[in-house]
Amino acid sequence: MTVITRATARLVDIEVETVRTDAMQSFLKQETIVVDLESSDGATGRGYSYTIGTGGRASLSMLNEHLLRLLPGEDPSNIERLWRKLYDSTRATSVGVLTALALAAVDTALWDLKAKRANLPLWQLAGGSRQDVPLYDTEGGWLHLSEGELVAGAQESMSRGWRGIKIKVGKESLAEDVSRIAAVRQAIGADAALMVDANQSMTAAEAIRRAAAFEPYRLAWFEEPLPAEDVAGHERLAQASRIPIAVGESIYSIGAFREYLQRGAAGIVQVDVARIGGITPWLKVAHLAEAFNVDVCPHFLMELHVSLVAAIPNGTFVEHIPQLRAVTTEEIEISEGRAVAPSAVGLGISWDEDELENRVVA
Ligand code: MG
Repeated sequence: MTVITRATARLVDIEVETVRTDAMQSFLKQETIVVDLESSDGATGRGYSYTIGTGGRASLSMLNEHLLRLLPGEDPSNIERLWRKLYDSTRATSVGVLTALALAAVDTALWDLKAKRANLPLWQLAGGSRQDVPLYDTEGGWLHLSEGELVAGAQESMSRGWRGIKIKVGKESLAEDVSRIAAVRQAIGADAALMVDANQSMTAAEAIRRAAAFEPYRLAWFEEPLPAEDVAGHERLAQASRIPIAVGESIYSIGAFREYLQRGAAGIVQVDVARIGGITPWLKVAHLAEAFNVDVCPHFLMELHVSLVAAIPNGTFVEHIPQLRAVTTEEIEISEGRAVAPSAVGLGISWDEDELENRVVA
């Protein structure tokens, strides 16, 4: 039997590529929690998860002091068994984001290892739906940008062939949000997809008011209008608006997604492979959404989500926010606004070992 012989974790700080702000926060740096595994047949697997600036050391500590010790001697192919073993050992801190990030770093490493041993790229091992997926751009839509900068960014995105763009909303006045949306819609024309994201900044009453004002601009979705814990508020908003309501980047369990879907409170599911605890639960949420006839457009982490969206039949968009350029030697192939899932075996991420090592902080 092949068994795991070594499991290690590091924390790697990766600088942000551009200033990113929304209605609630700024992206300070990508704290990247990297897990490396080795198995007795000589194979290796590397996985990772992230924070946008704080808390990474807590997840790293959970890995080093507890979770990684549970892996040696286990068969790395039994990912369900291992995920459950690790999850069950963290009952005191589950469901919770820091635990989910630690689980995700291990789980993605297990999938990398399994895919390499199977000689398959992730997108095929995880399902194999189609290799290329549409991209939309978020990098030109941050809240601190002026209306003129938003329009210039939107025009640049269109000229690069993106299928859609997303802008942040949640300015102090509704009029300012509407003016920015109108200007961007005008700039990109009627065909391109336009999304807005409030990053949980509104009350249900305010989101219903703003959604009504946004309706003429044919938005593809209204993302995180309310705090993620307010499922009833999302349900009311979904009933009141014709704009699909998108949630998921702040949801940390399969059961919480079930609750949203059962109540008709989510029109788009944005499950994040790090924050849900890895590829194993990510696929379950994606298949759950399929059962409810809901599409999956995951949050951030395009380097992993390209392969996962390519694996499932109900994945419609990947968010373009490159964040691994500094520590990889190859970029994801993009052609006519579509990203091509890597053909390389495993996760298909070409890590630059030196650049990664240079940024280790713990
Ligand atoms: Mg968002």
